[in-house]
Amino acid sequence: MDFDFTEEQNMLRDSVRKMLDRIATPEYIKDTDVNARYPYEVYDAFIEMGLISMAFPEEYGGLGGDVMDFAIISEELGRKSYDMLGAYATSVFNGLNLLHNGSEAQKRYFLPKLMSGEIRMSISMTEPDAGSDAGAMRATARREGNEWVINGQKVFATAAGAKNNIISVYVKTDLNVHYKDGISLFLVDNTLPGVNLRKLDTLGRRSLGTYEIFFDNVRVPADRLVGEPNRGWHYMLAGLQLERLATTAGYSGAAQNVVDQAVAYASERKQFGKPIGNFQSIAHMLADMQTEVEASRLLLWHAAWQLAKGKDALKALSMAKLFGSETYAKAANTGMQIMGGYGYIMEFDMQRHYRDARSTTITAGTSQMQRNIIAKLMGLNPK
Ligand SMILES: Cc1cc2nc3c(=O)[nH]c(=O)nc-3n(C[C@H](O)[C@H](O)[C@H](O)COP(=O)(O)OP(=O)(O)OC[C@H]3O[C@@H](n4cnc5c(N)ncnc54)[C@H](O)[C@@H]3O)c2cc1C
Repeated sequence: MDFDFTEEQNMLRDSVRKMLDRIATPEYIKDTDVNARYPYEVYDAFIEMGLISMAFPEEYGGLGGDVMDFAIISEELGRKSYDMLGAYATSVFNGLNLLHNGSEAQKRYFLPKLMSGEIRMSISMTEPDAGSDAGAMRATARREGNEWVINGQKVFATAAGAKNNIISVYVKTDLNVHYKDGISLFLVDNTLPGVNLRKLDTLGRRSLGTYEIFFDNVRVPADRLVGEPNRGWHYMLAGLQLERLATTAGYSGAAQNVVDQAVAYASERKQFGKPIGNFQSIAHMLADMQTEVEASRLLLWHAAWQLAKGKDALKALSMAKLFGSETYAKAANTGMQIMGGYGYIMEFDMQRHYRDARSTTITAGTSQMQRNIIAKLMGLNPK
């Protein structure tokens, strides 16, 4: 067993951290959060550094990295802000989904554009009546000659309104079969006629934003269907594994940042003549937080390692996602307690973590759904 990262992996982590320290300053992160502004400048730096290209094979213009690189970058971005991670990860995991399931022509057309920054990507599965039960989706696409016509309503599509965004949209293409055999995946430009986006006002994750999308007779050429018709459910499940890996890495980085901020505060803040970190109750809170963050990191790297080895990582990923999101949310809550009233005011960063973290046990599959998956893989049958 070896718990060390390679020299190249450490260099990658350092270079991401240096770039973020330069561009994603505390003022910058605050501005994108308060003004609900997409972090275009940071995204440009991803492109310049080749971070988006990292996970793609050289034959498509990528740098030939692997899922470990993807997770290392995600963890470092999460350390700054969960939305910085989101800007990177939504493009990369949707691009990887295309790499694994798209036609040769689609890969040659879209992937170079994604890596050069000409396009970004996002994902839209959820509908008002189809959240955890994604198979209940009602939006449809019907074939008309050389086009598909998309109709319906989606909700909670993160970053769908960013400039030059192509949305990976899952819709029903066969209503007469089980949903697993009747969903297809389409690539839809967010500016196409008939696509109407509405940014939702959210508690946290305000920089990327999450959108309601109305599709009103949206016409896309036949080559915007990814892979085979009616195979979308299977593409979605495989793609979700990569999404969960990136988000879990983001939770780990973000939770560590919470601990670092709380330790710094507890060392500085004096009450009753001594730093509050010297009170055993506060020190123990910090010790518990760090222990839980370390445990969530071990689950993360174990899952990443399984994926990198091509093993079935579903159980490991679900456990890492479940524990990582709950650890981040709990750490942000305790971090606020440690900072007293100052944690609650907008001037300090802890409140952003508190707001951002609250979404993580809901998004990319709720904690309850992760427990269902884990229990099923243990041979149980939770209802
Ligand atoms: C900030 C944010 C960003 C998002 N980004 C995206 C995105 O980019 N693309 C996208 O497609 N979606 C996105 N989502 C949607 C997200 O994936 C859904 O919110 C999530 O899957 C839950 O669906 P729901 O909100 O409809 O809740 P529901 O499914 O209605 O769940 C409500 C509650 O019931 C529980 N529950 C439901 N079914 C079961 C069950 N079988 N067993 C036990 N408990 C159950 C849930 O765990 C939850 O506690 C985003 C959501 C948010 C808040």
